[in-house]
Amino acid sequence: MRAFDFIVIGGGSGGLAAAQRAAQHGARALLFEPGRLGGTCVNVGCVPKKVMWTAAQLSHALRDARDYGFDLTVGGHDWAKLKTARDDYVARLNGIYARNLERRAVELVRRRAKLEGPGEVVDDSGEKYRAEHILIATGGYPRIPSLPGAELGMTSDGFFELEQCPRRVAVVGSGYIAVELAGVLQSLGAQVRQFVRYDSVLRSFDSMLSSKLMEALAALGVEVVTGTVPSGVKQTKGLCFVDGAGREFDGFDCLIWAIGRDPNTSGLGLDENGVERDGGGYISVDKYQSTSAPNVYAVGDVTGQAQLTPVAIAAGRRLADRVFGGQPGRHLGYDNIPTVVFSHPPIGTVGLSEQEARARYPDEAIKVYASEFVPMYHALTEHRPKTAMKLITLGHEERVIGCHIIGPGADEMLQGFAVAVSMGARKSDLDDTVAIHPTSAEELVTMR
Ligand code: FAD
Ligand code: NDP
Repeated sequence: MRAFDFIVIGGGSGGLAAAQRAAQHGARALLFEPGRLGGTCVNVGCVPKKVMWTAAQLSHALRDARDYGFDLTVGGHDWAKLKTARDDYVARLNGIYARNLERRAVELVRRRAKLEGPGEVVDDSGEKYRAEHILIATGGYPRIPSLPGAELGMTSDGFFELEQCPRRVAVVGSGYIAVELAGVLQSLGAQVRQFVRYDSVLRSFDSMLSSKLMEALAALGVEVVTGTVPSGVKQTKGLCFVDGAGREFDGFDCLIWAIGRDPNTSGLGLDENGVERDGGGYISVDKYQSTSAPNVYAVGDVTGQAQLTPVAIAAGRRLADRVFGGQPGRHLGYDNIPTVVFSHPPIGTVGLSEQEARARYPDEAIKVYASEFVPMYHALTEHRPKTAMKLITLGHEERVIGCHIIGPGADEMLQGFAVAVSMGARKSDLDDTVAIHPTSAEELVTMR
């Protein structure tokens, strides 16, 4: 049986990061990945999504360019050309990831693997391997509800396989993926109806963000149908979405389920090896990413904590630093994780929403600063959507515990403010920072 110091199951964001960092610390690392290197993010997530989002942004820029004096006639959009270029880009990234593993002397086995016993892993050819430390980083997959006809719909994975822009699309769900895909599809020529169970999208975000995004979706032409709990899908001439009240919405070319993701835990030998899962089926870990089985760890989406690429990467690297890099105590804190929703316009958010802050602290301890303005980009455009920003502060020192932005540039604006929030910045620290003019970001250091 071949022996290693570290075996990693899953070559996505978390697994790749952990294996390479461990190897940099001198560990003999082995990585199992039967699919394309880079996992969800690179192949069917962040990367191809951002390419599509950029294309959608360009469609808006082309519209706005006329208001800046350009004499433009846009002849249409070639989805197939965009897809080919996007797929080529992703394939290049797959190659870069493989070469990085080679360069860092991480051995790659292109097979599925599972736990076989203490310190033992077996791959799907039956070959066994040993290591003192084993990491599970198997990620997740998109959820399809158990409803009649649900299989007629696709998920975000299917979205990335579309060869043409569908004409009429139903998007079911109200989270990140639903709003991002609805925005991209509508911008690139589809007519989108988005079905949400309650009265809004992104309900777990600050209410200012969800209400402004509802306005932005409407302005884009996406019809958000509220109060629609899915009960099934029927094949008619097209696809027909049926809700719990028996209402039928017919005539879609495609329906996309975007109602969350489930962890990849089956066939991993978890129960047999004492690796416990929580009520949602995610692998339970402590703050050091340790599972209930000795020297078996888990990072990333399979743990269900903040399902974001940089979170999986940070957790993986810190684990490797702790176990192989002589840095005891090193671990990822899950507070103040910044996140961007690639909607149109984008959203950037870090820290507590106003609802969360008011639930956690006495009302008098919370002070909220908010601002709404037409960003200069839209000074000359016919469409004049407002940017909105909110800072939530705590106590008499007004420590900033939440920062929420929706508007052009929010995606790039947030990272620096996230540094400030994680360092414990006070409102006065922001006020003491000289503004950069004329930008939207300057509003965050000049709020009254
Ligand atoms: P994954 O990247 O899913 O990797 C898991 C890997 O394990 C897979 O490659 C799988 O093949 C492999 N595997 C599974 N079982 C086995 C086994 N038994 N043996 C060996 N290998 C196995 N996050 C962001 O931060 N920003 C974004 O803009 C963003 N956009 C997204 C858009 C979409 C449409 C989606 C779906 C996700 C997006 N995410 C985004 C989330 C991000 O992709 C995930 O949080 C991230 O990929 C999780 O990394 P991971 O390593 O935990 O899992
Ligand atoms: P999310 O968890 O973001 O949102 C799914 C939403 O769908 C739920 O919040 C719920 O909202 C609704 N929902 C749940 N079940 C049902 C149901 N049975 N019928 C109808 N609606 C339902 O999941 P996503 O799939 O959008 O994305 C998965 C994760 O991937 C995200 O949480 C995020 O961590 C990551 N991601 C990150 C991105 C980024 O960083 N930009 C982009 C894309 C994904 P409600 O209760 O309001 O109905």
